[in-house]
Amino acid sequence: MEENSRGISPRRSKRSTVHKIAAANEPNLFDELPDDLVVSVLCKLSSSAASSSDFINALLTCKRFKRLGFHQLVLSNVGSKVLAVKAKNWSDSVHRFLIHCVNAGNVEACYTLGMIRFYSLQNRGSGMSLMAKAAVKSYAPALYSLAVIQFNGSGGSRTDKDLQAGVALCARAAFLGHVDALRELGHCFQDGYGIRQNITAGRRLLMQANTRELASLLKSLVKQQPNHHHHHRGFNYEQFNCISGSGCSSMSNEPASEGHPVNVFLKEWFELGLGEMGEGLRLCSHKGCGRPETRAHEFRRCSACGTVHYCSRGCQALDWKLRHKLECVPFERWLE
Ligand SMILES: [Zn+2]
Ligand SMILES: [Zn+2]
Repeated sequence: MEENSRGISPRRSKRSTVHKIAAANEPNLFDELPDDLVVSVLCKLSSSAASSSDFINALLTCKRFKRLGFHQLVLSNVGSKVLAVKAKNWSDSVHRFLIHCVNAGNVEACYTLGMIRFYSLQNRGSGMSLMAKAAVKSYAPALYSLAVIQFNGSGGSRTDKDLQAGVALCARAAFLGHVDALRELGHCFQDGYGIRQNITAGRRLLMQANTRELASLLKSLVKQQPNHHHHHRGFNYEQFNCISGSGCSSMSNEPASEGHPVNVFLKEWFELGLGEMGEGLRLCSHKGCGRPETRAHEFRRCSACGTVHYCSRGCQALDWKLRHKLECVPFERWLE
C-alpha cells in the first residue's frame, strides 16, 4: 500500500495482513493500479452495496480505500441501500456522511437528509432546500414530498397551504411514474382539490396508480421466491414481463412500492421516541408513511370515525384499502 512510498511502519493493524502478503511478492500490483480504476471499482461498490456497513467496512480495509472512498464520484454514486440509515443508528458521523454525499451531488442523499432535517430534526428551512435540490433534478420522491408540504402548509400555519403549488409538484412526480403522486393527483382531480374537478381524469390516474402498484407487487413476489415452485413462478414471471414490457417501458425500472427507506426512518424515529413530537401532534396513520404533523390538527382525519389522521388523500385512500376499512367504527356506533 502506501507504506512503500512512506517507509514501512513498524506497527500495522490486523487489517493490513493482506497487504503485507502483497508487499512480500514484488511487484505490488495493487499499488500499481491507477487511482481512477480503484475509484471506478469503489463506485460500483457504493452504488450496489447491500447496506451502509458493507460499504464502510470495505473502506476500512486500507488507507487507500478510505481516501478514495471519499472521492466525489464514489459519493455521488452511493445508492439507496447504503443511504438507508436506521433511526436508532443516527449519529453525528452518519449525518456528516450524508452531508459528504449531498456535497458530491448525490440526489438520493439530498432527499434523505432533507426529509430527516425537515421532519426529524425540525430544521424546516434547510430540509426544504435539500428536497428542492433533489426536486430540480427530477427526483420524484422529493417532488411528491414537497407537494405534501405545500398541501398541508407543513412547518407554517394553515394559511401557508398552497394547493395549486401542491398540485403542480404532484403532477411532475406523477409524470415520472411515482405511485403515491399518481394516487394523490387522482384524488385531487376527483375532489376538485387545488385543481378544477375532472372525475374521468381522476379515475384514470387512480387506475394508473393501481396498475403500477400491482406491477411492483408482482415483481417483488417473484424476486422473493426465485426457486420455489420453479415452473409455476417462472410462467407467471414471463407472463408479467410481457405485460410490463409492452405496456410501459419505464415500469421495469420502478422500485417496488414498499415506500422509500426514509419513511421507515421517520416512523422509527418517532415511535422509538428518538425525537419528540410536540404536544398533541400525531403521525400519519398510514403505516408506510412516517410523516408527523408539524402543528396541531394539520392532518385530515377519517370523517367516519375521527380516530385516524393522514398527511394526504393518497395515504388515506391507501390505508383505507389496506387496513382501515376493516377497523373503521363510525361515531354513531361508539355511542350505542
Ligand atoms: Zn402519510
Ligand atoms: Zn375511520
